[in-house]
Amino acid sequence: MDTAKKTEQMFIRNDQYNFIAQQVYFIVHTQNTVNHQDTRDGVKLHAMAKVREMIPGMTENQEALLNRMTELENETEARTFLNELKRDCVIPFQALTKKKVEKLFPKAKKLQIPDLDALDFQRLSYLGWFDTRAHKQYLIVEYQGRLKGIAGHFANSNNKGICSICNHLGEVALFVTKVKSGKETYTSRGNYICKDSHVCNENLTDIKKLEVFLDHLFQ
Ligand SMILES: [Zn+2]
Repeated sequence: MDTAKKTEQMFIRNDQYNFIAQQVYFIVHTQNTVNHQDTRDGVKLHAMAKVREMIPGMTENQEALLNRMTELENETEARTFLNELKRDCVIPFQALTKKKVEKLFPKAKKLQIPDLDALDFQRLSYLGWFDTRAHKQYLIVEYQGRLKGIAGHFANSNNKGICSICNHLGEVALFVTKVKSGKETYTSRGNYICKDSHVCNENLTDIKKLEVFLDHLFQ
C-alpha cells in the first residue's frame, strides 16, 4: 500500500477507536443475547448513527468500512474487525524521539524516558509515564497542534475516583503541576487522573475531555 493511500485511510483518532470498539462489543453482545430481530437492528442503526456523529465528514468508503461493524456476529469477528481497523485507519500520535522528549522538559535532570520503540503510538491520545527516580509524572500532549510537556507529581494516590482525562472510574491520583500564571509567577493546579496512562488511553472515548483538562492547565 502506498503512503498516500494509507494516509487517506487513517481517519480515526485513538479516542474514536475506543468509542467504536465500545459500540462493536455492544452490537455483538446484543446479537448474542437478544432474540428480537427489530431490537438487534435498532441497536445496530443507533450505534452506526452515534459513530457517524462522532466522526463527521467521512468519505463514502470510510463510512462503508465502519458499516461493516453492523454485520459482526461474534467476539472473534469483532476482534478481527477492530484489529484491522486499528492497523489501517488509526492516526498515530506525533512521532517522538529521545531528543524531542528531552526538549519538552528542559528543566528535568536525567529524565527517565519510556522505551519509545515499545510504544504503540496509534493507541495514544497522550503519553504519560512515571519517573521513578524523580518521583514525577510526565505527560506529553498535543495542544492546539503543538506538542507540550507537562511535569507534575502525584498526591493522594490511593484513591478510586473519576479521571479528569478519560472520565472513567478507576485508580486515580491527584496530579499536581505548576503552571505559569503571570510573567514570573506560577500557580499550582491539581486534577485527579488515572495513575496508569495506558489504561487511561484505552478508556478515553471523547477527546474533548482531554482538551478541557488541558484548557484548565494552560488557560
Ligand atoms: Zn483516565
